[in-house]
Amino acid sequence: MDSQASTEDLIACPHCDALQRLPELEVGQKAVCIQCDHTLSYSMHESLDRPLACAIAGLILLVLSLSFPFLAFEASGREQSIGLAQSALELSRYGSPILGIVSLAFIIVAPAVILIAVVALLGQLFLNRRPIAGKQLATLIFMLNPWAMVDVFFLGTLISLTKIAELAYLKTGTAFWSFLIFALVFAATMASLDKHTIWKRLESVNNV
Ligand SMILES: [Zn+2]
Repeated sequence: MDSQASTEDLIACPHCDALQRLPELEVGQKAVCIQCDHTLSYSMHESLDRPLACAIAGLILLVLSLSFPFLAFEASGREQSIGLAQSALELSRYGSPILGIVSLAFIIVAPAVILIAVVALLGQLFLNRRPIAGKQLATLIFMLNPWAMVDVFFLGTLISLTKIAELAYLKTGTAFWSFLIFALVFAATMASLDKHTIWKRLESVNNV
């Protein structure tokens, strides 16, 4: 029994696969792999305030990004503005329509679902409640995270813009700037969420 319980505590380093046990971490400490120095876990900031606040800010910014014009083009005296979702579709217009839908899923749907799940999970932990669907929410957050490609989209947009700017006069809309801040806030949210700390918090509240 004992040996089974102790093997369950072992985690494999995602970088070099070395099996090891995570030590208890104090606030501000991080655990690194014994073999390759890869960061395995870090203790979250004093509380869950930071990722929770970031996630709420991120959702507000995403709503703003979807409500205002993203870009406006002016050529031959005519101006046309397009929204964020339309920009994503336009960028993949020369690919297949499926590519457009997939890119929308990666830049809007996946990050939105992640942030809603973060607010739902951390909000419940913040209020010291035993989270409803806690494990499912945590699984969803970390499973979807690799599919949220907000930063990749932004880089792609900037590269396309340098080309479009040669053909038409370009204006960035309110949504462009709110989406840029959204990309930074989203990255900050995910950087301040530590998988092991979340699972430990869930285990401890479920065992109370
Ligand atoms: Zn390692």
